Amino acid sequence: MINVTKTFLPDQEKYLQYVREIWERGYLTNNGPLLQELEAQLKNYLQVDHLYFCGNGTIVLQIAIKALEITGEVITTPFSYCATSNAILWEKCTPVFVDVDAASFNINPDLIEASITPATTAILATHVYGNPCDVEKIEAIAKKHNLKVIYDAAHAFGVKYKGRSLLSFGDISTCSFHATKVFHTIEGGALISNHPELDRKLSLLRAFGHQGDEHYLYAGINGKNSEFHAAMGLVNLPHVPEIIHARKEVFAAYDRLLNWDLLYKPVLSKDIEYNYAYYPVVFSSEQVMFRVMEALRVEEIIPRRYFYPSLNTLSFMPKQIACPVSEDISARVLSLPLYVGLPYSDIERIAGIINGHL
Ligand SMILES: *Cc1c(COP(=O)(O)O)cnc(C)c1O
Repeated sequence: MINVTKTFLPDQEKYLQYVREIWERGYLTNNGPLLQELEAQLKNYLQVDHLYFCGNGTIVLQIAIKALEITGEVITTPFSYCATSNAILWEKCTPVFVDVDAASFNINPDLIEASITPATTAILATHVYGNPCDVEKIEAIAKKHNLKVIYDAAHAFGVKYKGRSLLSFGDISTCSFHATKVFHTIEGGALISNHPELDRKLSLLRAFGHQGDEHYLYAGINGKNSEFHAAMGLVNLPHVPEIIHARKEVFAAYDRLLNWDLLYKPVLSKDIEYNYAYYPVVFSSEQVMFRVMEALRVEEIIPRRYFYPSLNTLSFMPKQIACPVSEDISARVLSLPLYVGLPYSDIERIAGIINGHL
């Protein structure tokens, strides 16, 4: 079977060396030495100053909302994974969906201002597929209306925009290091802050909010991660350049082989160093998408409807807001298999099946 993704697994012996180290120390979690080492290496690799390794890419969204004291309405994108808007709901805020740009699939900055009300306090946007949002326009709007900006950068590991880490934009960016992402720690995530004054708060919020047994400062949560997860990160991080390179090759092969007269894909921002996180293609109709999905399925090739459904259509959203562009794209998009080690012959086969069913 060929799945949409396959987790990169490093040399087992290197991981086991760390496991033996953990056994010797008997220190398994709570800001241990491997976690601190991973944070140091990630800051260096990503060129960011304030980074906190946490349990997953969803709790970091919640901690970011909490840390910035966001309340009321949060402007967000309907074209993302449900974690983005669910985190807003779990923090007792109201997601206000603003439709996406038809070319980039990211939140359309030109539609944001019309959705701002006196209750709006923040913008939470996703760099979809690692493709940067229009960070300049979003920053200008946020400044003008005094809004906080959080980027769900779950897809944006290692992406640079204008030579600068994409994670260094906004008040806080969040990452996911889930096993399906470009860089993974099995489960994991990170908070990347651009506010040194938030350092103490963020590190406390992820660990119950107290310092020692005396000082209970914030209503914190358990957002911690373990030495075992940090170890996976330490073993995987040196492989990231080769992982991105291998993904780039798969990407280029699909680019060459697919029939672009009858398909399209999001337009990547200029001025980026990309991580080749996903390979989404949009079909001419939902019907064609289903036809292709079925043709692939009989060959045991499993792409993913990513993202589907458009989050604004979920029944439990407090505000029902139409987002025609996002609804249209999400009905017709499939993310194709993309991972290290996907053989060229399989890419040819996948492209052949797709082209044959358009
Ligand atoms: C994967 C993902 C998340 C959630 O990350 P987890 O680590 O699985 O909690 C959030 N947002 C987006 C856009 C994602 O792709």
